[in-house]
Amino acid sequence: MTKPPAIDSVCVYCGSSNAADPAFLKVAADFGALLAASGVRLVYGGGQVGLMGACARAAHETGGRVLGVIPRFLMRREVIYEAVETRVVETMHERKLLMFEEADAFVVLPGGVGTLEEVIELMSWRRLSLHTKPIVFLNQDGYWEPFFALIRHTVDHRLTPVEFLDCWRSVDRVEDILPAVEAMTGEAGTTIVPLVT
Ligand code: AMP
Repeated sequence: MTKPPAIDSVCVYCGSSNAADPAFLKVAADFGALLAASGVRLVYGGGQVGLMGACARAAHETGGRVLGVIPRFLMRREVIYEAVETRVVETMHERKLLMFEEADAFVVLPGGVGTLEEVIELMSWRRLSLHTKPIVFLNQDGYWEPFFALIRHTVDHRLTPVEFLDCWRSVDRVEDILPAVEAMTGEAGTTIVPLVT
């Protein structure tokens, strides 16, 4: 697979739970290896737990570049990954900002409330036209359907502009993620979301 032209770094949001479905842990590792094979740097929340750790280990162990960003108070709980470059910050807000600044695109794998918090902020910044960076969900086994339904619900009630539905992509297979990122890079900024619904 070749590297998308404008994409040097992809930020991955995903779950920190070690109790996750093994299929989800595997797909996180598969994506880490795909990033490494494509020469794309992984930016992630640091640590070695859950899908986050599986993705980072696979990327690093197959020769990829990895940047972790972890708040000091989580270094023990999320088990800092000594083998890769890690920046230690003080707050969750600093973590999200640095991850945002260091990435050209965002990929969302299955995750819990922390993953939701991160991607909702990213999507709300897109809705406010603060960025046009690609956002691609891996909808493994329909995992994100309830979330997409909730967003559509807000559109149906005219609380979110319908144009917003065009601001991210969803794919079912891990090998389709980077091509979707590449396609979105080409069309970045083409969807204008009105500020007032
Ligand atoms: P989860 O999806 O709940 O397993 O969380 C995934 C990652 O998101 C973990 O590294 C959490 O530390 C992180 N996280 C949770 N809440 C926040 C937040 N408010 N800001 C930044 N990162 C968060």
